[in-house]
Amino acid sequence: MDFRSMFQNPENQWSSNTQVFFPNDPQFASSTERWNAYERPTYKAAVRPGSAEDVQKIIKLAASNEFPFLVTSGNHGYSATFGTLDDGLAIDMRNFNSVTINAAANTMTIGGGTIFNQIYDPLYNAGKEIQSGAVSTVGVLGITLGGGIGRYQGIHGLLLDALQSVRMVTAKGDLITVSSASNSDLFWGLRGAGMNFGAITEATYRVSDLTNGGQVRNADLIFPVSAAPEFFKALPSFKAKQPKEMACIAVVICDNASGEAQILVNFTFPGPEDEFMKLIQPFLDLNPGTQVINTLPWNELVTKSGFGIDALLGVKGQPHSIFGANLKNIDSSKWVEIFNRMNSFYASTPAARTSTIALEVFSTEAVAAVPDDATAYPWRDAQAYVMFQMGWTDPSATDAATALAIELRNMVVSTSGYSGLTTYVSYAHGEETLEQKYGANKLPRLQALKKKWDPKNVFAYNNAIVPST
Ligand SMILES: Cc1cc2nc3c(=O)[nH]c(=O)nc-3n(C[C@H](O)[C@H](O)[C@H](O)COP(=O)(O)OP(=O)(O)OC[C@H]3O[C@@H](n4cnc5c(N)ncnc54)[C@H](O)[C@@H]3O)c2cc1C
Repeated sequence: MDFRSMFQNPENQWSSNTQVFFPNDPQFASSTERWNAYERPTYKAAVRPGSAEDVQKIIKLAASNEFPFLVTSGNHGYSATFGTLDDGLAIDMRNFNSVTINAAANTMTIGGGTIFNQIYDPLYNAGKEIQSGAVSTVGVLGITLGGGIGRYQGIHGLLLDALQSVRMVTAKGDLITVSSASNSDLFWGLRGAGMNFGAITEATYRVSDLTNGGQVRNADLIFPVSAAPEFFKALPSFKAKQPKEMACIAVVICDNASGEAQILVNFTFPGPEDEFMKLIQPFLDLNPGTQVINTLPWNELVTKSGFGIDALLGVKGQPHSIFGANLKNIDSSKWVEIFNRMNSFYASTPAARTSTIALEVFSTEAVAAVPDDATAYPWRDAQAYVMFQMGWTDPSATDAATALAIELRNMVVSTSGYSGLTTYVSYAHGEETLEQKYGANKLPRLQALKKKWDPKNVFAYNNAIVPST
């Protein structure tokens, strides 16, 4: 496809604020750079549409000229399936970044390219909050469409549970409203499999008053290798008593000084300090090597918690190979085995010491309160989520890192409480079956929706659902 001619053709009447970049332009890299440099899409051109009408025109031209494209907001999608897009067009939605809060109506309307760090201050200043992801540079729509899990899900549910309506360009190029009142069947499918159906230019969410006045208790702890068994032993009883406001993220990460595995743990709780201290006391009793306990305002929670690891986690352009799984159980002895295996791997494979394991233990109270059939999201029964996030500084470590991730995923699945592998689609590697990502009971309805709304599968690069025949 000759994108230069397409964008220079005056008959297309592009709006004046639509910008187009080619590989030699300096802005091309910022529009196309992915968080994951491994198995990434390749592009011949990037466009930053300046209007919804231009998004419609681009998608109509893609249909008639059969060129591949990817709609992006935060560029943090990391599944290997993105790597199947060759020589396409990046549709960078960054110009759709407006944030409008209606405090009286408890709603927030954002442009389709908005990223999380653009909504924290406006919401906080209006006395409002929303369920957020754990890293500030991820796209709000990108997270919403698969689920949107995070620290406040016990209070507010998944991010997709807060979605009220969207304006979306379909595979045919029509601009439609999708909500419970308009195209309601598609609204069901968007919430859990939304990356399969269209390009969202605008979305409206329900927002809530700040919990605990926006004051969040935060504890960042580091457990060295010697404390790991006791840490994992304490986790199941913590989970059993976890209040809806309490969140825990534990990351197995290499201590570069010693070359050994350690566990970086973050607890957050928007509630009374004494209650928080009681909840984390069993972990403080294990004498973590490092501990920081403080109170953060809601709008700084993501950027400052976890020793400020957000700045590191959001860095683009590094290679990753990530395998996720849902858990109903946390089996302490299995986790000690996994930790020890990772520790040996750091010792044997220094080039893969950027690999980590993230275990997210969030309350599911408000997630489980939504009926399972209300949305396409299939894993409301998951009690925790794990990601084996392999990385490397030398490509020669790629195969060993990937093989280890699959081995560790098999280990965790054996005691997960599910009968086999299931994974949150946004944490999927890509090689899983559609049933393992979208749920066997949701898949037929999703395939029928795909046939109706995207029969040629143009939204094809993120764990795409195959249209039913
Ligand atoms: C560092 C990091 C932290 C993460 N933390 C969390 C977390 O806390 N909770 C969680 O649930 N997930 C989390 N994720 C996973 C995240 O949900 C997915 O990676 C998500 O797809 C990224 O969205 P994005 O917009 O940044 O990426 P992109 O690659 O830009 O988009 C991802 C997908 O969404 C589609 N998309 C994006 N914008 C639009 C739009 N406007 N209209 C239609 N489709 C669109 C894209 O086409 C693509 O299929 C994290 C990922 C990373 C890398």
